[in-house]
Amino acid sequence: MDDLRSFASPDTAEGGLDRRSFVKVITMAAAAVGLNASAAARVAEAAAAGVKPSVIWLHFQECTGCTESLLRTSHPDIAKLILDLVSLDYHETLMAASGNQAEDALHAAMKANEGKYICVVEGAIPTRDDGIYCMIGGKTALQLVEEVADKAAAVIAIGSCASWGGIPSADPNPTGATGAPTVLKDKAVVTLPGCPANPYIFLGTALQFVALGTLPALDDKGRPMFAYGRTIHEHCPRRAHFDAGRFVQQFGDEGHRQGWCLYKTGCKGPATHASCSTLQFGETVDAWPIGLGHPCFGCTEQKVAFRVPLHDTVEIDRPTPPDTYPPIEASQGKVGAVATGLTGLVVGGALGAGYRFAKKLSAENEGDPPPPPDDKEVTS
Ligand code: SF4
Repeated sequence: MDDLRSFASPDTAEGGLDRRSFVKVITMAAAAVGLNASAAARVAEAAAAGVKPSVIWLHFQECTGCTESLLRTSHPDIAKLILDLVSLDYHETLMAASGNQAEDALHAAMKANEGKYICVVEGAIPTRDDGIYCMIGGKTALQLVEEVADKAAAVIAIGSCASWGGIPSADPNPTGATGAPTVLKDKAVVTLPGCPANPYIFLGTALQFVALGTLPALDDKGRPMFAYGRTIHEHCPRRAHFDAGRFVQQFGDEGHRQGWCLYKTGCKGPATHASCSTLQFGETVDAWPIGLGHPCFGCTEQKVAFRVPLHDTVEIDRPTPPDTYPPIEASQGKVGAVATGLTGLVVGGALGAGYRFAKKLSAENEGDPPPPPDDKEVTS
């Protein structure tokens, strides 16, 4: 793992951040994922002091997209930050070792950090036919995840596949693929669904566990509330078009070119809890489905992605204002330009009078004898 650890070090600017910048970036990242200022400062200090938990990262049925997404971030390079924060003792995609050497690394890390390491699961776990559809080192994924999770301090399922089965579990699900929470019934599993999961959500969860030994507040599906507490629809940049009734009718039409709401083309944003609109991928503005003109397909929701046909519409999960406001009735009339101008004159006149009155008071306080009280000015 020395190769991995040779990324940026908190003590040197060579190849990464100097200590001061490192602390600053960690503090900002911790605050961005919902930790308060003092918790963020403790996280940064612990990270800078070199407190690193062992991480054992397992891969099962998946495309490795969550790891790829993690490694493709920048400003700051989150991969470097994570590799500075944790001791990544086993990761099949990143480690140079293979075969017996890799198996030995896994067993050594489990033995040296028993009860203290973080087990990260990436990929679904096949359960049909005793789990024979995914085998590593002669063991099924089912055996491996049970064995590694059993001695872990915390289990994090990263991505939709590890959280609830994802694409491998789509009908007819020939391998009986499912997520880590289903097979680890006696363990609390933090789920970070997404296809891929946003690396910052992993960073926030890992940061909190590293420094404080606690996990973030979770919803009833094990998802951190700081990232999954709201629906896409509640923070969507196209929401104003939804509220105004301006919808894309088909891809490529005028509404699509104008960036209108994608609800009628099957957007699952109203039923999808995720933070893609505010925590964008690769720190690139609009690098997410709706930003690119495609409907959200609900990848963080077990009952939506790969279940509901792509272009079917969904119920609105939690209507919020202003779409619950009463409609504006045309019969009540419109506000014309002349009326707006007159209102402006009245408001402007009132402000001007107030300003002159204040100046008058100020002049009086600077030495002029006060005039007799004016009933009109004091009655209110
Ligand atoms: Fe955005 Fe989809 Fe909601 Fe339209 S339906 S406002 S595109 S989340």
